Amino acid sequence: MKKVLVVDDSQTILTLIKSEIALHSDIEAFYADSYKSAMRLIREHRGQFHAALLDLNLPDAPEGEIVKLANANKIPAVILSATINEELKDRVMKKDVVDFVVKDTPQSVKFAVNAILRTLKNYDTTILVVDDSKLYRETLKNSLQRIHLNVIEAEDGQEALAIIKENKNISLVITDYEMPNMNGIELTYQLRNEYQKDELAIIAMSTIDNSEVVGAFLRFGANDFLNKPFTHYEVVTRINSNLELIDLFTTLKDRANKDFLTGMFNRRYFFDSGIPIFKKNKRKVYPLAIAMIDIDKFKNINDTYGHDVGDDAIKEIKTILDQNLRESDLVARFGGEEFCILLEEINIHNVKSLFEKIRAAFESNVIHTNGIDISYTISTGICYGILDSLDAMIQLSDEALYEAKTTGRNKVVIKEV
Ligand code: GH3
Ligand code: MG
Ligand code: MG
Ligand code: MG
Repeated sequence: MKKVLVVDDSQTILTLIKSEIALHSDIEAFYADSYKSAMRLIREHRGQFHAALLDLNLPDAPEGEIVKLANANKIPAVILSATINEELKDRVMKKDVVDFVVKDTPQSVKFAVNAILRTLKNYDTTILVVDDSKLYRETLKNSLQRIHLNVIEAEDGQEALAIIKENKNISLVITDYEMPNMNGIELTYQLRNEYQKDELAIIAMSTIDNSEVVGAFLRFGANDFLNKPFTHYEVVTRINSNLELIDLFTTLKDRANKDFLTGMFNRRYFFDSGIPIFKKNKRKVYPLAIAMIDIDKFKNINDTYGHDVGDDAIKEIKTILDQNLRESDLVARFGGEEFCILLEEINIHNVKSLFEKIRAAFESNVIHTNGIDISYTISTGICYGILDSLDAMIQLSDEALYEAKTTGRNKVVIKEV
């Protein structure tokens, strides 16, 4: 949960903001209708607010004093104001303000809350700044850090490539054109060999007002372009809109590939990623393990405690599997209370001990939910070796699972081929 401070003296606006924020379950909002009560909230939650949504004109602070208060407490602020006073806007934007939304359309509140959401995400977002000019790197870094992004710097394309290899969490690269060792276009070309436009955004910059350079950057896969020199506000707008697109793509991909209840991959993703892994290992005649896990007597949990408790019990699967599996293991929710795992580069001895450990972990685990304690066991069927197809391996692990169910449950049955 991230804490957000909302200050506005209009009850109508506060109500609108409340209903917009209520759509986002990861935000805990605190509301104040005056400078004085905002100050009290900040004192009560010292150092805990991740962002603030502020009205510039409050009865007890008519000149935007609230921004100064947020600043002093290092809370990034989005302004929602009735004023379009350019002088005031400029003055405010120079401070630690991440966005300025004018209350002039019915969508204003939505825009302002979106700016808050962007700011909250920025805390976990990393940007790579690539420029041989220390001055530009510093300027950019300063702008990006003011909107609470994490910044890594590189002096040229070569260094940038090395950094990206080590930091898989970089979402956006902003690169200069002319640099020693490797220029920005070559860097863009190299990056696009590995990362699609929807997983890593690239923004190109150049002082040369040269449409050929812009064209080349875009042809080689840059998402956007920024002319030097630029203002803080230009950088922020460009970066935010590109990050929003990347997030949108991630959401769409998750919707297609992940299960809504558990956040685990679904059957479709399992086959999309599993088939290439199967083919690679088949070619080398390396063994794979396919494990099918099914909760024992799960119907009893639903029947006794209700579907919501059943849902919580299913979510627990992810926690225990995450604790025991490697990042490279492919795990998916196949159906209701059935899960499939593909493991490569593992010997039969380790398969046995790993799944025995997982079985025991479920047996001793107690889930606290809705004021009650529940527990359940699992049965596991495993196919180990390599067959003609992934489907054939899954089918054999299904047979092993059936055997585990019919011979007592709470056990692991392995079929070696
Ligand atoms: P067995 O040991 O033979 O596997 O017995 P079981 O009761 O677990 O098996 P069965 O296949 O008869 O029942 C599975 C139950 O899982 C039935 C279904 O209502 C429940 N289930 C499937 N998906 C969900 C879900 O998303 N949420 C909840 N709460 N229950 C689910
Ligand atoms: Mg340069
Ligand atoms: Mg079951
Ligand atoms: Mg079942």
